[in-house]
Amino acid sequence: MGNDTGFLEFKKESPPLRPVEERVLDYQEYDTFFSDKDLQQQAARCMDCGVPFCHMGCPLGNMIPDWNDLVYQGHWKEALASLHSTNNFPEFTGRICPAPCEDSCVLTEHYTLDSEEKLRKVNAVTIEEIEKHISERGWTEGWIKAQPPSELTDKRVAIIGSGPAGLAAAQQLRRSGHTVTVFEKDDRIGGLLVYGIPDFKLEKRVVSRRVEQLRQEGVDFRTGVNVGIDLSVKELQKSFDAVLLAIGAQNARKLTAEGHDLNGVHYAMDFLPQCNRDVAGDFIPEEEKIDSGNKLVIILGGGFTAADCLGNINRQGAKTNVRQFELVNMEPRPTPVHEEANPDCRANILTEAIIDDGEGNVKALQGVNVEWERKNGRMTMKRLEGSEFTVSADIVLLAMGFLGPTVEGLLEGLEVELSVIGTENSRTPALVKKMLRNAQPVYSIRSDDNFMTSREGVFVAGDANRGASLVVWAIWEGREAARCIDEYLMGNSVLPSTPQAEVLV
Ligand SMILES: Cc1cc2nc3c(=O)[nH]c(=O)nc-3n(C[C@H](O)[C@H](O)[C@H](O)COP(=O)(O)OP(=O)(O)OC[C@H]3O[C@@H](n4cnc5c(N)ncnc54)[C@H](O)[C@@H]3O)c2cc1C
Ligand code: SF4
Repeated sequence: MGNDTGFLEFKKESPPLRPVEERVLDYQEYDTFFSDKDLQQQAARCMDCGVPFCHMGCPLGNMIPDWNDLVYQGHWKEALASLHSTNNFPEFTGRICPAPCEDSCVLTEHYTLDSEEKLRKVNAVTIEEIEKHISERGWTEGWIKAQPPSELTDKRVAIIGSGPAGLAAAQQLRRSGHTVTVFEKDDRIGGLLVYGIPDFKLEKRVVSRRVEQLRQEGVDFRTGVNVGIDLSVKELQKSFDAVLLAIGAQNARKLTAEGHDLNGVHYAMDFLPQCNRDVAGDFIPEEEKIDSGNKLVIILGGGFTAADCLGNINRQGAKTNVRQFELVNMEPRPTPVHEEANPDCRANILTEAIIDDGEGNVKALQGVNVEWERKNGRMTMKRLEGSEFTVSADIVLLAMGFLGPTVEGLLEGLEVELSVIGTENSRTPALVKKMLRNAQPVYSIRSDDNFMTSREGVFVAGDANRGASLVVWAIWEGREAARCIDEYLMGNSVLPSTPQAEVLV
């Protein structure tokens, strides 16, 4: 390690976010970049602790101390090669990963005496920032180029879904020489990277340049094809030697309270894709527009999706007192968009009804405070009598999480088994569809240790396999599933594998 005492000399710093007044006027990324010199100083804080828990905390097994040192020494190209050896898309994770690696950094366990002889906690290395900077340097220097395979096999693989899991698998399989076709039902490639995550977190040019690299490597992209409907399952299985389901888990949890179907109640995944289309310059018919400008908005939910709704609302100019209610005992996770609007965020709120203005539109939300207790190992909710309240609203956005992949069409056609989380038994898509009508079980596609579903030659990766999760996990799943598919087709594989990290994200 080049600088043994860097962590004592320099504090953890991140480049400032763009000022709130400026960034709410546009949809460009709110992050800024360090100069190379400032970044190298941050990289110098890595203390070569010997047991790099950061590397183990990263789902991809990124070799963080190695690239920290390479950056400190100014060997940027080598740092990029190290980063790419475990992560196909560091420019995505470097921007939007919640960075469990930083929580695992050994520096977080250390204290030092400051100039006033007071104990000061030593913060983690700013790993995510370094990752983003290395990958951007790679793009601006022209080091990131297409790597088409030198030899082709005679095997054909269909990948259904073009989110991070599908893209990572496509790149790995193509570089192994297979003929890879990615089918996407939307009109753009990228899954939630393009139609969920807003531009202010991840500008879409960052996704398209990577898609272009895959295209140049020989990956065939077919958009506007809803497999199972536009292309039959029979046709699919006849034309390909292996199939990967990377279809995500975008079936949203429903609001069942009275008034859930009033005008003005929208699912986040109706709102967010529309916002991204608007930013991309697509035409949105007036009657379909969800416009929060000058409206009273309430967001139900406390995760990424809810925060992304808030960021868009801030940019559309909603009335100031945006509210965000979360049912469970957890304050909505603070993000940079919260400092833009200072919303009224509350945990332990149950929505009991959405109230009608008499003409079928939302007028208000009726809620009540709840308490959570553990009974017989299960959390149970108790309504707090007397705490009922009503707040005015024009728009209610539902960002209450996701249940699993869409069952209709493809999964029904393939008849792959599903697993309902919390039960031992596998279920057929027909049975899960029936259950969804009454209860709202969380489910995924059942797979074995080799990512194969209950149907021979059909594999699964990403959110469809592990439930709604993170981009870093989707990339890991795509890479691992690609290796298993390669092995299934060829009998062995030289593609790398990273053991599953023991982090609960
Ligand atoms: C609003 C939002 C914000 C998020 N923000 C973050 C974040 O900041 N950081 C983070 O790490 N994670 C974030 N996540 C989670 C992350 O986006 C997902 O975990 C990740 O995208 C999952 O990747 P995937 O490839 O499995 O699926 P997806 O990205 O969901 O892609 C699946 C694709 O399959 C396509 N598809 C489905 N069925 C078919 C079919 N039958 N035929 C053809 N195509 C089909 C879909 O159209 C979609 O494009 C966010 C999620 C949401 C919803
Ligand atoms: S991918 Fe996420 S966890 Fe891994 S090094 Fe990057 S920021 Fe950390």
